[in-house]
Amino acid sequence: MALIKRILVTGGAGFLGSHLCERLVGEGHDVLCLDNFFTSQKSNVTHLLAKPNFELIRHDVTVPINLEVDEIYNLACPAAPGHYQYNPIKTMKTSVIGSINMLGMAKRCRAKILQASTSEVYGDPEIHPQVESYRGSVNPIGPRACYDEGKRAAETLFVDYHRMNKVNVRIVRIFNTYGPRMHPYDGRVVSNFIRQALAGEDITIFGDGEQTRSFCYRDDLIEGFIRMMAAPDDFIGPVNIGNPGEFTIRELAELVIELTGAKSKLVQRPLPADDPTRRRPDITLAKAKLKWEPKVPLREGLAETIKWFKSINIADYRAPTP
Ligand code: NAD
Ligand code: UDP
Repeated sequence: MALIKRILVTGGAGFLGSHLCERLVGEGHDVLCLDNFFTSQKSNVTHLLAKPNFELIRHDVTVPINLEVDEIYNLACPAAPGHYQYNPIKTMKTSVIGSINMLGMAKRCRAKILQASTSEVYGDPEIHPQVESYRGSVNPIGPRACYDEGKRAAETLFVDYHRMNKVNVRIVRIFNTYGPRMHPYDGRVVSNFIRQALAGEDITIFGDGEQTRSFCYRDDLIEGFIRMMAAPDDFIGPVNIGNPGEFTIRELAELVIELTGAKSKLVQRPLPADDPTRRRPDITLAKAKLKWEPKVPLREGLAETIKWFKSINIADYRAPTP
């Protein structure tokens, strides 16, 4: 029988966190879900509350907490530009102080700890596709810096705790991930386009729509998390986890219109400052070390996501800024 572990998921009530909790609960582990509900709803995890191996803790990672755990997935951090720019100082504190608190817990408990890092550490990249050895091009004083630099500092902390204190760490650089339970008002491109299409509103393309992103379906991403946590201890990453299929934002809009059958028009809006021009993961390392690669094509994942958006009452979700 597989070993049952006590696993902490910070940010566990969020989009990715709630799916991760579901998967770990399903595998029989004792799951502690810690969240301050800054960008999420309790409804993401209410279906888990009746399970004997699931616990929900309302807590902010910037405040120390003592728990006894075997593994930690550190996901707590607002992820959408509109969310992380709402209170940029708090965003930086969440990444930096939150990581220090969780790394301290991992050190005390001798727990393994995985950091949900991001493709944003590459900033507006000068090389394409992005490999893990690329050091990035981030504007340290721009509107995205609180998130990008916070996540970069968190990576530094993870590696230093590993080097100095032998903490068993893992770093995953996540590229744009979408799927059911993403916040309908998070302002991200997939949620905006689907929400706008279903409401018959204009679809807002920022800039000329020729900028690209690579979209990974949430199930593929969660599988990548699990494999990275289970990887041999000498592989700490960072490792890119994302779908190398690259689409312009205009192509994404056209696909959403096709799949929803919407009559929406495409309208242009100004491009936000420091918006990366191109983004696509090189996943050679994940393939070699984790035997991981994404399975769900964009068309299929979007269809699932649209189905979910149709099934919810969007009015139950809070407005764009939390
Ligand atoms: P999300 O906003 O749905 O989830 C983040 C969760 O963290 C929320 O439940 C939020 O309430 C919680 N949180 C925020 N600040 C907190 C704090 N101080 N203390 C406790 N909880 C706090 O976003 P997501 O898309 O599920 O992202 C999860 C993680 O993955 C984040 O760390 C994010 O940076 C990373 N990531 C996500 C993507 C993506 O495309 N979804 C891409 C790159 C990285
Ligand atoms: N975007 C857009 N219309 C929207 C929301 C976003 O054209 O309504 C663009 C945005 O400018 C960016 C891309 O879509 O170029 C992805 O934006 P998102 O906020 O989803 O993620 P990130 O920029 O962090 O990758």
